[in-house]
Parts: sequence; C-alpha cells; structure tokens
Amino acid sequence: MSPLIPNKLVYVLAAMCFVVGRCSAEVNKVETVAGDVYFHEGDLTGKGHCNNGWIVFEDYVLVVDANFPSGAHEVIPKIKALTSKPIRFAFDTHHHGDHAYGNQVWVEQGATPVAHTGVIEEMKKYETGHYGDKPGRWEEAAKDRPDVAASKLKPPTLLFRKDMIFDDGRHRVELLHFGVAHTHGDGFAWLPKERILFSGDACVNGPYNYVGDGDTGEWIKTLEAVKALNPNTICPGHGPRGGPDVLDDQINYFKALRGEVKKLVDARKKPAEVQAAVDALKETLSKQPRIGRYVGSMFAGQVEKVYVEMGGKPFQSAAARRADEQKHAHAHSAALNASRAHSSTAKRAAPVKR
Ligand SMILES: [Zn+2]
Repeated sequence: MSPLIPNKLVYVLAAMCFVVGRCSAEVNKVETVAGDVYFHEGDLTGKGHCNNGWIVFEDYVLVVDANFPSGAHEVIPKIKALTSKPIRFAFDTHHHGDHAYGNQVWVEQGATPVAHTGVIEEMKKYETGHYGDKPGRWEEAAKDRPDVAASKLKPPTLLFRKDMIFDDGRHRVELLHFGVAHTHGDGFAWLPKERILFSGDACVNGPYNYVGDGDTGEWIKTLEAVKALNPNTICPGHGPRGGPDVLDDQINYFKALRGEVKKLVDARKKPAEVQAAVDALKETLSKQPRIGRYVGSMFAGQVEKVYVEMGGKPFQSAAARRADEQKHAHAHSAALNASRAHSSTAKRAAPVKR
C-alpha cells in the first residue's frame, strides 16, 4: 500500500471536516480556538455541563458561561493551568442553571458575574425561591444535584442592556444582545478580530434546543441579526464547535420546524391531531442532512411550542413540559443520553480537527 494513501486520506477527511464545519475536540478537553481564546465542550450527558470559553486578556481572564457549580470546578483548574492571571469576569449567556448556577463558585474565585439585564428579569420569573416567593427552579435542581444543593444562587451583578466591551488593545470581546431567542436575556460573546462567536444556547450543535422560555419566531430573527456579524467560528452552548454553517443549520432547523407546524395550523388541525403528527414530523426533519441532528428527545415540546406560538392550544401535559425544562436546565443527562448517543455517531464520524 502506498505510504501516500494515509496522508491523502487525512487530507481528504480534514477537508471534509472543514466543509462540514462540525469538528471538535473531545468533551472535557481544552481546545485552543485562537491565541488566548479557549473552548471547552462540557460533559452534557454525564453531568449536564454546558460548554465554556475563556479569553486571556493582558491583566485578567473573562470566562464565557458559569456552568453548574460542578462544571465551574471542572474548568477552573484548566484555566489556572494555562495562566496565572486572575479570573475577573464570568459571563452568563442566559439564566439557565447549566449556564448560571455556578456564579457563586466564580465569585469565590474573585470574579464578577456579568449578563444582559434580561437574565435578571428571567431569574425573577423562574427563581422565585431566591426572590422570597415559593421554591423555584434552583430548589428543584438542588433536589437531584448535590453541587447545586451545596452552593447558592448568585444572580449576575454587572449588567448590560445592549452591549458591553472588553478591549485591552490586544483582545476585544463584545457582549451583545440581539433580542429574544432561547430566552429573553440571551447574550453573545463576539470576538471581532478573530471572528469567533460564543453563542450560548441561542445556537447549539445537536439535539439540545429547549424552547420553553423563548420564542422560535423571534429566535430566527435574532440569529439572522447575529449572522450579519459574519463569524467564522461558532462556539455553541452545547455540542462541538464548528464553522458558520452551525449557525445556518440552527436557523434552518427552526425554519423547517415552523414550516411543518404551519402546514398543520393552516389545515386547522386540532391539538390532538397535531400531537398525533409529531412522530411523522420527527421522521421528516430527522432525514434532512443539515438539520436532522437537531431532532431529539425534546421534539414534541418544540412542536407544541411552535403550535402555541401560531395560536394553537397546548397538547402535552404540564408534567411533560416540566420534564423538558428539567432535561435542559437541571439534569440534562438521563433523558438526553439516547439522543446524544444517536447524534454523536453521525457527528463524530468525521475525524477530529485540532
Ligand atoms: Zn439554556
């Protein structure tokens, strides 16, 4: 066998990897995205962790997403192994537990949690226990997460309405809000020099779209505004990093989902009929090569949410809706295992590009 073949193969596969744009380092491994810019894909299936990023400035470190407390403890030593500069800021891309419940851990490191003002508004809505009312999502999560039970909710204390800019001459990070998407307080970290976008859960790379706290119609508009930044690297809230096609695929998934549900609305289908159509819709969307990987265990909830946004009535039980919310923001792991295992086969078939 020609010794050239393996090299050729590597070249072809690397090229495919570039085109497909969904290449990644392994879960729990630090990946250098650019000089002083790092990405870390969290252990979602085992621990419910979100992805993290961090940027090493001349005098300090800015971290993207606080993660769960256990996720914060996972990445802090990895940051410290790379730099002795203090971790000064932890940016919550949104209010969900797997992105913001670790805030207290970062505060204990000397950092200040930063977020869009909408994160506080969302916390007031859902974290009722913290604000002196009935137990909310934190208390629910603490029942099955010892890391949450051992910490406390620390809402972000440094807030921005439209943008906040970190710029020391060498590095520039813009925290931006474009409108409603995954939640009413989504923030993006945009690095204009390197054209890297940290998107939080407004753009994920796999079957991780929880739609209960946002609006899918607005979500598309928001992501189209984000697309105008013209990023060349997307570091999503969940799933491996990739090229700009990840943003296109996320937009197109919602367009296709809404298109399919619109057909049912136009045909005046009743809630029970829409529910009965869920499996067929799932099959249709799963088969589409660029967006099939977004179809997962929260699919019925996604169909219901779009149907309700278009004027229909809910068809799932309140318990099913709560289960989706818990899958996304509390435990993640068990319920997502099946879809993750399924999607990761396809997703990781291409070789890893480092
Ligand atoms: Zn989320």
